[in-house]
Amino acid sequence: MKTPIVAIVGRPNVGKSTLFNKLSGKRLSIVDDMPGVTRDALFAKCDWNDKKFIIIDTGGFETKTKHDEILKAVNTKTKEYIDKADVILFVVNLRDGILAVDIELSNFLKRTKKPIILCINKCDSIGEPPLNYYDFFQLSQTKMFAISAMHGHGVGDLLDEIVKNFKDFEKESEKKDESRIKVAILGKPNVGKSSLINAILKKEQLIVSNVAGTTRDSIDILIKFNNKEYIFIDTAGLRKKNKITEKVEKYSAIRSFFAIERADVCILLLDATNGAVEQDLKIAGYINKKGKSLIVAINKWDLIEKDENTAKNYEKILKKHFNFMKHIPYIFISVKTKQRLNNIFPLIEDVNLQANKRLTTGMLNEILSYSVEKMQPPSMKGKKLKIYYITQVSCKPPTFAIFVNNKNLFHFSYKRYLENQIRKEYKFLGNPLKFIIKENKK
Ligand code: GDP
Ligand code: GDP
Repeated sequence: MKTPIVAIVGRPNVGKSTLFNKLSGKRLSIVDDMPGVTRDALFAKCDWNDKKFIIIDTGGFETKTKHDEILKAVNTKTKEYIDKADVILFVVNLRDGILAVDIELSNFLKRTKKPIILCINKCDSIGEPPLNYYDFFQLSQTKMFAISAMHGHGVGDLLDEIVKNFKDFEKESEKKDESRIKVAILGKPNVGKSSLINAILKKEQLIVSNVAGTTRDSIDILIKFNNKEYIFIDTAGLRKKNKITEKVEKYSAIRSFFAIERADVCILLLDATNGAVEQDLKIAGYINKKGKSLIVAINKWDLIEKDENTAKNYEKILKKHFNFMKHIPYIFISVKTKQRLNNIFPLIEDVNLQANKRLTTGMLNEILSYSVEKMQPPSMKGKKLKIYYITQVSCKPPTFAIFVNNKNLFHFSYKRYLENQIRKEYKFLGNPLKFIIKENKK
Protein backbone atom coordinates (compact mmCIF):
# COMPACT_ATOMS: atom_id res chain seq x y z
CA MET A 1 0.00 0.00 0.00
CA LYS A 2 1.18 3.49 -0.71
CA THR A 3 1.92 5.22 2.54
CA PRO A 4 0.37 8.66 3.04
CA ILE A 5 2.80 11.53 3.45
CA VAL A 6 2.43 14.26 6.03
CA ALA A 7 4.65 17.32 5.66
CA ILE A 8 5.48 19.62 8.55
CA VAL A 9 5.82 23.17 7.30
CA GLY A 10 6.57 26.43 9.06
CA ARG A 11 9.14 29.14 9.51
CA PRO A 12 12.23 28.51 11.64
CA ASN A 13 12.00 27.99 15.39
CA VAL A 14 8.30 27.32 15.61
CA GLY A 15 9.02 23.75 16.72
CA LYS A 16 8.85 21.66 13.55
CA SER A 17 11.63 19.29 14.42
CA THR A 18 10.39 18.97 17.99
CA LEU A 19 6.99 18.00 16.62
CA PHE A 20 8.62 15.66 14.13
CA ASN A 21 10.43 13.90 16.96
CA LYS A 22 7.28 13.66 19.00
CA LEU A 23 5.30 12.18 16.12
CA SER A 24 7.93 9.76 14.97
CA GLY A 25 8.79 8.53 18.44
CA LYS A 26 12.17 8.34 20.00
CA ARG A 27 13.21 5.14 18.30
CA LEU A 28 13.24 6.60 14.84
CA SER A 29 14.50 10.08 15.24
CA ILE A 30 17.90 10.32 16.72
CA VAL A 31 18.16 13.55 18.61
CA ASP A 32 21.76 14.42 18.82
CA ASP A 33 23.88 17.42 19.47
CA MET A 34 26.05 16.73 16.46
CA PRO A 35 25.89 19.72 14.14
CA GLY A 36 23.84 19.08 11.07
CA VAL A 37 22.04 16.17 12.61
CA THR A 38 18.69 17.86 13.04
CA ARG A 39 18.73 20.39 10.27
CA ASP A 40 18.09 18.77 6.90
CA ALA A 41 14.80 17.43 5.65
CA LEU A 42 13.82 14.38 7.62
CA PHE A 43 11.54 11.52 6.87
CA ALA A 44 10.18 9.00 9.32
CA LYS A 45 7.54 6.35 9.51
CA CYS A 46 4.69 6.78 11.93
CA ASP A 47 1.97 4.54 13.11
CA TRP A 48 -1.23 5.73 14.77
CA ASN A 49 -4.11 3.36 15.47
CA ASP A 50 -2.76 0.97 12.84
CA LYS A 51 -2.60 3.69 10.23
CA LYS A 52 0.86 4.07 8.82
CA PHE A 53 2.21 7.24 7.32
CA ILE A 54 5.42 9.05 6.59
CA ILE A 55 6.18 12.42 8.07
CA ILE A 56 8.56 14.87 6.55
CA ASP A 57 10.13 17.67 8.51
CA THR A 58 10.68 20.28 5.87
CA GLY A 59 13.07 22.21 8.13
CA GLY A 60 16.39 23.03 6.69
CA PHE A 61 16.24 26.78 6.82
CA GLU A 62 18.79 28.24 9.13
CA THR A 63 17.36 30.25 11.97
CA LYS A 64 19.00 33.36 10.64
CA THR A 65 17.55 32.99 7.18
CA LYS A 66 16.04 36.21 6.01
CA HIS A 67 12.39 36.53 5.22
CA ASP A 68 12.67 36.48 1.43
CA GLU A 69 15.13 33.63 1.53
CA ILE A 70 12.66 31.56 3.45
CA LEU A 71 10.07 32.13 0.80
CA LYS A 72 12.59 31.29 -1.88
CA ALA A 73 13.29 28.04 -0.11
CA VAL A 74 9.56 27.41 0.05
CA ASN A 75 9.45 27.81 -3.68
CA THR A 76 12.02 25.12 -4.30
CA LYS A 77 12.75 22.38 -1.81
CA THR A 78 9.84 22.66 0.56
CA LYS A 79 7.46 23.04 -2.33
CA GLU A 80 8.52 19.67 -3.60
CA TYR A 81 7.71 18.02 -0.30
CA ILE A 82 4.44 19.89 -0.15
CA ASP A 83 3.62 18.60 -3.63
CA LYS A 84 4.15 15.03 -2.48
CA ALA A 85 2.29 15.47 0.78
CA ASP A 86 -1.23 14.26 1.41
CA VAL A 87 -1.68 16.28 4.57
CA ILE A 88 0.16 19.42 5.66
CA LEU A 89 0.88 20.38 9.24
CA PHE A 90 1.37 24.12 9.26
CA VAL A 91 3.17 25.02 12.47
CA VAL A 92 3.16 28.47 14.10
CA ASN A 93 4.43 29.67 17.45
CA LEU A 94 1.95 30.88 20.06
CA ARG A 95 4.57 33.06 21.74
CA ASP A 96 5.56 34.98 18.62
CA GLY A 97 2.01 35.55 17.45
CA ILE A 98 1.43 35.91 13.71
CA LEU A 99 4.38 37.18 11.71
CA ALA A 100 4.21 38.43 8.15
CA VAL A 101 5.95 35.33 6.93
CA ASP A 102 3.28 33.16 8.59
CA ILE A 103 0.62 34.96 6.59
CA GLU A 104 2.51 34.45 3.36
CA LEU A 105 3.11 30.80 4.12
CA SER A 106 -0.55 30.41 5.01
CA ASN A 107 -1.66 31.89 1.70
CA PHE A 108 0.82 29.79 -0.18
CA LEU A 109 -0.43 26.62 1.50
CA LYS A 110 -4.08 27.41 0.84
CA ARG A 111 -3.36 27.52 -2.87
CA THR A 112 -2.20 23.87 -2.77
CA LYS A 113 -5.81 22.82 -1.97
CA LYS A 114 -4.43 20.07 0.27
CA PRO A 115 -5.78 19.36 3.74
CA ILE A 116 -3.99 21.74 6.09
CA ILE A 117 -3.92 21.45 9.85
CA LEU A 118 -2.78 24.58 11.63
CA CYS A 119 -0.74 23.66 14.72
CA ILE A 120 -0.32 26.42 17.23
CA ASN A 121 2.71 25.20 19.06
CA LYS A 122 4.16 26.02 22.46
CA CYS A 123 0.75 25.95 24.15
CA ASP A 124 2.47 24.44 27.15
CA SER A 125 -0.23 24.83 29.78
CA ILE A 126 -2.87 22.14 30.03
CA GLY A 127 -6.54 23.03 29.71
CA GLU A 128 -8.16 25.86 27.82
CA PRO A 129 -5.85 27.41 25.24
CA PRO A 130 -4.54 30.88 26.14
CA LEU A 131 -6.35 33.88 24.72
CA ASN A 132 -3.80 34.74 22.07
CA TYR A 133 -4.43 31.29 20.61
CA TYR A 134 -7.58 32.75 19.05
CA ASP A 135 -5.53 35.36 17.17
CA PHE A 136 -4.53 32.60 14.83
CA PHE A 137 -8.07 32.45 13.44
CA GLN A 138 -6.87 35.30 11.27
CA LEU A 139 -4.84 32.81 9.26
CA SER A 140 -8.23 31.35 8.37
CA GLN A 141 -7.12 27.79 8.09
CA THR A 142 -9.97 25.34 8.48
CA LYS A 143 -8.48 23.15 11.19
CA MET A 144 -6.69 24.53 14.26
CA PHE A 145 -4.98 22.68 17.07
CA ALA A 146 -3.29 23.92 20.22
CA ILE A 147 -0.29 21.73 20.89
CA SER A 148 2.90 21.56 22.84
CA ALA A 149 5.32 19.58 20.74
CA MET A 150 7.75 19.62 23.60
CA HIS A 151 5.43 18.19 26.25
CA GLY A 152 3.15 16.29 23.93
CA HIS A 153 -0.07 18.09 24.87
CA GLY A 154 -2.64 17.92 22.10
CA VAL A 155 -0.51 15.62 19.98
CA GLY A 156 -2.90 12.67 20.34
CA ASP A 157 -5.82 14.74 19.06
CA LEU A 158 -3.64 16.04 16.27
CA LEU A 159 -2.78 12.47 15.24
CA ASP A 160 -6.47 11.56 15.20
CA GLU A 161 -7.10 14.47 12.89
CA ILE A 162 -4.14 13.59 10.64
CA VAL A 163 -5.26 10.02 10.03
CA LYS A 164 -8.86 11.09 9.36
CA ASN A 165 -7.57 12.62 6.15
CA PHE A 166 -6.23 9.31 4.85
CA LYS A 167 -9.58 7.56 4.50
CA ASP A 168 -10.12 8.36 0.89
CA PHE A 169 -7.04 7.23 -0.81
CA GLU A 170 -6.05 4.18 1.16
CA LYS A 171 -7.59 1.71 -1.25
CA GLU A 172 -6.79 3.53 -4.41
CA SER A 173 -3.09 3.54 -3.70
CA GLU A 174 -2.87 -0.09 -2.75
CA LYS A 175 -2.22 -1.30 -6.26
CA LYS A 176 0.39 1.28 -7.08
CA ASP A 177 2.87 0.25 -4.44
CA GLU A 178 2.93 -3.34 -5.59
CA SER A 179 4.33 -2.33 -8.92
CA ARG A 180 7.17 -0.29 -7.49
CA ILE A 181 10.50 -1.97 -6.99
CA LYS A 182 11.92 -1.22 -3.57
CA VAL A 183 15.64 -0.62 -3.70
CA ALA A 184 17.73 -0.47 -0.52
CA ILE A 185 20.98 1.44 -0.70
CA LEU A 186 23.39 -0.14 1.75
CA GLY A 187 27.00 0.22 2.71
CA LYS A 188 29.36 1.63 5.28
CA PRO A 189 29.31 5.32 6.11
CA ASN A 190 31.00 7.55 3.57
CA VAL A 191 30.84 5.21 0.61
CA GLY A 192 28.50 7.68 -1.08
CA LYS A 193 24.98 6.44 -0.38
CA SER A 194 23.41 9.84 0.07
CA SER A 195 25.45 11.28 -2.77
CA LEU A 196 24.16 8.53 -5.04
CA ILE A 197 20.56 9.17 -4.13
CA ASN A 198 21.07 12.88 -4.53
CA ALA A 199 22.58 12.35 -7.94
CA ILE A 200 19.65 10.21 -8.97
CA LEU A 201 17.24 12.80 -7.68
CA LYS A 202 19.46 15.43 -9.28
CA LYS A 203 18.63 17.60 -6.32
CA GLU A 204 20.15 18.32 -2.99
CA GLN A 205 17.55 16.65 -0.83
CA LEU A 206 19.64 14.75 1.62
CA ILE A 207 22.48 16.18 3.56
CA VAL A 208 25.83 14.96 2.24
CA SER A 209 28.75 15.24 4.53
CA ASN A 210 32.00 13.62 5.54
CA VAL A 211 30.87 13.15 9.11
CA ALA A 212 30.07 9.49 9.34
CA GLY A 213 26.45 8.88 10.20
CA THR A 214 25.08 12.27 9.28
CA THR A 215 22.24 10.75 7.33
CA ARG A 216 20.64 8.93 10.16
CA ASP A 217 17.20 7.74 9.39
CA SER A 218 16.18 5.15 6.91
CA ILE A 219 14.34 7.16 4.33
CA ASP A 220 11.89 6.13 1.63
CA ILE A 221 12.28 8.14 -1.51
CA LEU A 222 10.04 7.92 -4.53
CA ILE A 223 12.08 8.11 -7.70
CA LYS A 224 10.86 8.23 -11.28
CA PHE A 225 13.05 6.89 -14.05
CA ASN A 226 11.82 6.30 -17.59
CA ASN A 227 8.26 6.84 -16.40
CA LYS A 228 8.55 4.08 -13.84
CA GLU A 229 8.41 4.63 -10.12
CA TYR A 230 10.87 3.13 -7.70
CA ILE A 231 11.16 3.39 -3.96
CA PHE A 232 14.68 3.91 -2.75
CA ILE A 233 15.37 3.09 0.86
CA ASP A 234 18.31 5.11 2.06
CA THR A 235 20.01 3.75 5.15
CA ALA A 236 22.56 5.36 7.36
CA GLY A 237 25.20 2.77 6.72
CA LEU A 238 26.68 -0.05 8.68
CA ARG A 239 29.84 0.19 10.62
CA LYS A 240 31.42 -1.12 13.72
CA LYS A 241 30.79 1.25 16.56
CA ASN A 242 33.30 3.95 17.16
CA LYS A 243 33.48 6.72 19.66
CA ILE A 244 32.05 9.61 17.66
CA THR A 245 29.19 7.86 16.01
CA GLU A 246 28.32 5.14 18.45
CA LYS A 247 24.83 6.38 19.19
CA VAL A 248 24.01 7.02 15.58
CA GLU A 249 25.53 3.81 14.27
CA LYS A 250 23.62 1.58 16.60
CA TYR A 251 20.42 2.71 14.98
CA SER A 252 21.90 2.50 11.51
CA ALA A 253 22.71 -1.21 11.65
CA ILE A 254 19.21 -2.05 12.78
CA ARG A 255 17.78 0.12 10.04
CA SER A 256 19.90 -1.52 7.39
CA PHE A 257 18.58 -4.90 8.40
CA PHE A 258 15.01 -3.63 8.28
CA ALA A 259 15.70 -2.03 4.92
CA ILE A 260 16.90 -5.37 3.54
CA GLU A 261 13.76 -7.10 4.77
CA ARG A 262 11.58 -4.59 2.96
CA ALA A 263 13.64 -4.36 -0.21
CA ASP A 264 13.24 -6.19 -3.49
CA VAL A 265 16.69 -5.22 -4.70
CA CYS A 266 19.68 -4.31 -2.54
CA ILE A 267 22.53 -2.19 -3.80
CA LEU A 268 25.64 -2.64 -1.70
CA LEU A 269 27.84 0.35 -2.24
CA LEU A 270 31.62 0.10 -1.83
CA ASP A 271 34.24 2.80 -1.89
CA ALA A 272 36.66 1.87 -4.67
CA THR A 273 39.59 3.18 -2.66
CA ASN A 274 38.80 0.79 0.21
CA GLY A 275 37.32 -2.24 -1.50
CA ALA A 276 35.20 -4.74 0.37
CA VAL A 277 35.72 -5.47 4.05
CA GLU A 278 34.35 -8.08 6.39
CA GLN A 279 31.29 -6.03 7.18
CA ASP A 280 30.37 -5.88 3.49
CA LEU A 281 30.66 -9.63 3.36
CA LYS A 282 28.35 -9.91 6.34
CA ILE A 283 25.77 -7.67 4.84
CA ALA A 284 25.94 -9.45 1.48
CA GLY A 285 25.55 -12.73 3.32
CA TYR A 286 22.49 -11.41 5.09
CA ILE A 287 20.97 -10.20 1.83
CA ASN A 288 21.62 -13.62 0.36
CA LYS A 289 20.07 -15.38 3.31
CA LYS A 290 16.99 -13.22 3.04
CA GLY A 291 16.70 -14.24 -0.60
CA LYS A 292 16.95 -10.70 -1.97
CA SER A 293 18.47 -9.53 -5.22
CA LEU A 294 21.88 -7.94 -4.86
CA ILE A 295 23.97 -5.58 -6.93
CA VAL A 296 27.41 -4.49 -5.78
CA ALA A 297 28.25 -0.98 -6.92
CA ILE A 298 31.83 0.20 -6.63
CA ASN A 299 31.67 3.93 -6.18
CA LYS A 300 34.32 6.68 -6.43
CA TRP A 301 35.74 4.98 -9.51
CA ASP A 302 37.03 8.44 -10.49
CA LEU A 303 39.64 8.16 -7.71
CA ILE A 304 41.23 5.04 -9.15
CA GLU A 305 44.08 5.24 -11.58
CA LYS A 306 43.25 2.80 -14.28
CA ASP A 307 44.05 1.10 -17.52
CA GLU A 308 41.82 -1.21 -19.56
CA ASN A 309 42.28 -4.12 -17.14
CA THR A 310 41.66 -2.35 -13.87
CA ALA A 311 37.93 -3.03 -13.64
CA LYS A 312 38.39 -6.65 -14.71
CA ASN A 313 41.06 -7.24 -12.09
CA TYR A 314 39.10 -5.40 -9.44
CA GLU A 315 36.10 -7.57 -10.17
CA LYS A 316 38.24 -10.69 -9.89
CA ILE A 317 39.30 -9.68 -6.40
CA LEU A 318 35.72 -8.95 -5.39
CA LYS A 319 34.54 -12.25 -6.81
CA LYS A 320 37.06 -13.97 -4.60
CA HIS A 321 35.90 -11.96 -1.63
CA PHE A 322 32.23 -12.71 -2.25
CA ASN A 323 33.06 -16.17 -3.45
CA PHE A 324 29.93 -17.87 -2.15
CA MET A 325 27.82 -15.52 -4.27
CA LYS A 326 28.91 -15.92 -7.84
CA HIS A 327 25.68 -14.45 -9.11
CA ILE A 328 26.41 -10.87 -8.04
CA PRO A 329 26.67 -8.28 -10.82
CA TYR A 330 29.32 -5.61 -10.25
CA ILE A 331 29.03 -2.09 -11.52
CA PHE A 332 31.75 0.53 -11.37
CA ILE A 333 30.37 3.99 -10.88
CA SER A 334 31.30 7.48 -9.91
CA VAL A 335 28.64 9.62 -8.38
CA LYS A 336 30.99 12.54 -8.78
CA THR A 337 31.46 12.25 -12.55
CA LYS A 338 28.07 10.51 -13.08
CA GLN A 339 29.89 7.65 -14.74
CA ARG A 340 27.49 4.74 -15.46
CA LEU A 341 24.79 6.08 -13.13
CA ASN A 342 22.31 5.54 -15.95
CA ASN A 343 23.18 1.86 -16.01
CA ILE A 344 21.91 1.34 -12.51
CA PHE A 345 18.21 1.33 -13.38
CA PRO A 346 18.43 -1.23 -16.19
CA LEU A 347 20.41 -3.41 -13.82
CA ILE A 348 17.78 -3.06 -11.09
CA GLU A 349 15.12 -4.01 -13.64
CA ASP A 350 17.15 -6.97 -14.79
CA VAL A 351 17.85 -8.52 -11.40
CA ASN A 352 14.26 -7.92 -10.32
CA LEU A 353 12.98 -9.61 -13.47
CA GLN A 354 15.23 -12.58 -12.81
CA ALA A 355 14.02 -12.82 -9.24
CA ASN A 356 10.53 -13.29 -10.65
CA LYS A 357 11.51 -15.68 -13.41
CA ARG A 358 9.69 -19.02 -13.60
CA LEU A 359 11.19 -22.04 -15.27
CA THR A 360 8.87 -24.79 -16.36
CA THR A 361 9.38 -28.28 -15.05
CA GLY A 362 10.19 -29.27 -18.62
CA MET A 363 13.03 -26.75 -18.87
CA LEU A 364 14.45 -27.83 -15.54
CA ASN A 365 14.32 -31.53 -16.20
CA GLU A 366 16.06 -31.06 -19.50
CA ILE A 367 18.92 -29.44 -17.60
CA LEU A 368 18.76 -32.19 -15.02
CA SER A 369 19.00 -34.98 -17.54
CA TYR A 370 22.04 -33.69 -19.39
CA SER A 371 23.71 -32.61 -16.14
CA VAL A 372 23.34 -36.09 -14.73
CA GLU A 373 24.67 -37.53 -17.92
CA LYS A 374 27.71 -35.27 -17.81
CA MET A 375 28.44 -35.92 -14.16
CA GLN A 376 26.97 -38.88 -12.38
CA PRO A 377 25.40 -38.23 -8.97
CA PRO A 378 27.55 -39.39 -6.07
CA SER A 379 27.36 -42.79 -4.40
CA MET A 380 28.08 -43.68 -0.82
CA LYS A 381 28.76 -47.19 0.47
CA GLY A 382 27.38 -48.71 -2.65
CA LYS A 383 24.22 -46.59 -2.54
CA LYS A 384 23.67 -44.32 -5.45
CA LEU A 385 21.88 -40.99 -5.41
CA LYS A 386 18.93 -40.95 -7.74
CA ILE A 387 17.39 -37.67 -8.76
CA TYR A 388 13.85 -38.15 -9.98
CA TYR A 389 12.91 -34.69 -10.96
CA ILE A 390 13.18 -31.01 -10.21
CA THR A 391 10.54 -28.31 -10.22
CA GLN A 392 10.37 -24.63 -9.35
CA VAL A 393 8.12 -23.97 -6.39
CA SER A 394 8.39 -20.22 -5.94
CA CYS A 395 10.00 -16.91 -6.95
CA LYS A 396 11.76 -14.17 -5.04
CA PRO A 397 14.00 -15.99 -4.39
CA PRO A 398 13.75 -18.62 -7.12
CA THR A 399 13.19 -21.84 -5.18
CA PHE A 400 13.41 -25.36 -6.54
CA ALA A 401 12.33 -28.68 -5.12
CA ILE A 402 14.49 -31.65 -6.03
CA PHE A 403 13.06 -35.11 -5.50
CA VAL A 404 15.64 -37.78 -4.67
CA ASN A 405 15.76 -41.34 -3.37
CA ASN A 406 17.88 -40.50 -0.33
CA LYS A 407 18.51 -37.07 1.11
CA ASN A 408 21.76 -38.07 2.77
CA LEU A 409 23.32 -38.88 -0.54
CA PHE A 410 22.63 -35.44 -1.93
CA HIS A 411 25.96 -33.87 -1.25
CA PHE A 412 26.44 -30.13 -1.11
CA SER A 413 28.87 -30.20 -4.01
CA TYR A 414 26.36 -31.86 -6.28
CA LYS A 415 23.79 -29.26 -5.39
CA ARG A 416 26.36 -26.63 -6.28
CA TYR A 417 26.96 -28.38 -9.57
CA LEU A 418 23.26 -28.41 -10.44
CA GLU A 419 22.93 -24.78 -9.44
CA ASN A 420 25.76 -23.88 -11.81
CA GLN A 421 24.12 -25.83 -14.61
CA ILE A 422 20.85 -23.96 -14.09
CA ARG A 423 22.67 -20.65 -13.99
CA LYS A 424 24.63 -21.45 -17.14
CA GLU A 425 21.36 -21.63 -18.99
CA TYR A 426 19.12 -19.20 -17.13
CA LYS A 427 21.53 -16.88 -15.25
CA PHE A 428 19.34 -15.60 -12.42
CA LEU A 429 21.71 -12.65 -12.25
CA GLY A 430 21.91 -11.05 -8.83
CA ASN A 431 19.69 -13.64 -7.17
CA PRO A 432 20.32 -16.47 -4.78
CA LEU A 433 18.73 -19.81 -5.64
CA LYS A 434 17.19 -21.96 -2.97
CA PHE A 435 16.86 -25.72 -3.11
CA ILE A 436 14.55 -27.92 -1.12
CA ILE A 437 15.54 -31.55 -1.20
CA LYS A 438 12.66 -33.99 -0.89
CA GLU A 439 12.82 -37.70 -0.43
CA ASN A 440 10.61 -39.82 -2.61
CA LYS A 441 10.87 -43.43 -1.48
CA LYS A 442 9.21 -44.96 -4.50
P1 GDP B 1 12.07 24.33 13.99
O1 GDP B 1 13.15 25.27 13.59
O2 GDP B 1 10.74 24.79 13.54
O3 GDP B 1 12.35 22.92 13.60
O4 GDP B 1 12.00 24.40 15.59
P2 GDP B 1 12.62 23.43 16.71
O5 GDP B 1 11.84 22.17 16.80
O6 GDP B 1 14.08 23.34 16.52
O7 GDP B 1 12.24 24.28 18.01
C1 GDP B 1 12.73 25.59 18.21
C2 GDP B 1 12.81 25.83 19.69
O8 GDP B 1 11.51 25.82 20.29
C3 GDP B 1 13.62 24.78 20.44
O9 GDP B 1 14.40 25.42 21.43
C4 GDP B 1 12.56 23.89 21.05
O10 GDP B 1 13.02 23.29 22.23
C5 GDP B 1 11.45 24.87 21.35
N1 GDP B 1 10.13 24.25 21.34
C6 GDP B 1 9.61 23.43 20.42
N2 GDP B 1 8.36 23.03 20.76
C7 GDP B 1 8.09 23.62 21.94
C8 GDP B 1 6.94 23.60 22.84
O11 GDP B 1 5.93 22.95 22.61
N3 GDP B 1 7.02 24.36 23.94
C9 GDP B 1 8.13 25.10 24.23
N4 GDP B 1 8.12 25.80 25.35
N5 GDP B 1 9.21 25.14 23.44
C10 GDP B 1 9.19 24.40 22.33
P1 GDP C 1 27.29 8.02 2.86
O1 GDP C 1 27.77 8.14 4.27
O2 GDP C 1 27.48 6.62 2.35
O3 GDP C 1 25.90 8.52 2.62
O4 GDP C 1 28.30 8.91 1.96
P2 GDP C 1 28.12 10.39 1.38
O5 GDP C 1 27.16 10.39 0.27
O6 GDP C 1 27.89 11.29 2.52
O7 GDP C 1 29.57 10.62 0.74
C1 GDP C 1 30.76 10.63 1.52
C2 GDP C 1 31.81 11.46 0.84
O8 GDP C 1 32.25 10.85 -0.38
C3 GDP C 1 31.34 12.86 0.46
O9 GDP C 1 32.38 13.75 0.74
C4 GDP C 1 31.10 12.76 -1.04
O10 GDP C 1 31.28 13.98 -1.69
C5 GDP C 1 32.15 11.76 -1.46
N1 GDP C 1 31.78 11.03 -2.70
C6 GDP C 1 30.63 10.40 -2.95
N2 GDP C 1 30.65 9.82 -4.17
C7 GDP C 1 31.86 10.10 -4.71
C8 GDP C 1 32.50 9.77 -5.97
O11 GDP C 1 31.95 9.13 -6.87
N3 GDP C 1 33.75 10.23 -6.14
C9 GDP C 1 34.41 10.95 -5.19
N4 GDP C 1 35.65 11.34 -5.46
N5 GDP C 1 33.84 11.27 -4.02
C10 GDP C 1 32.58 10.85 -3.76
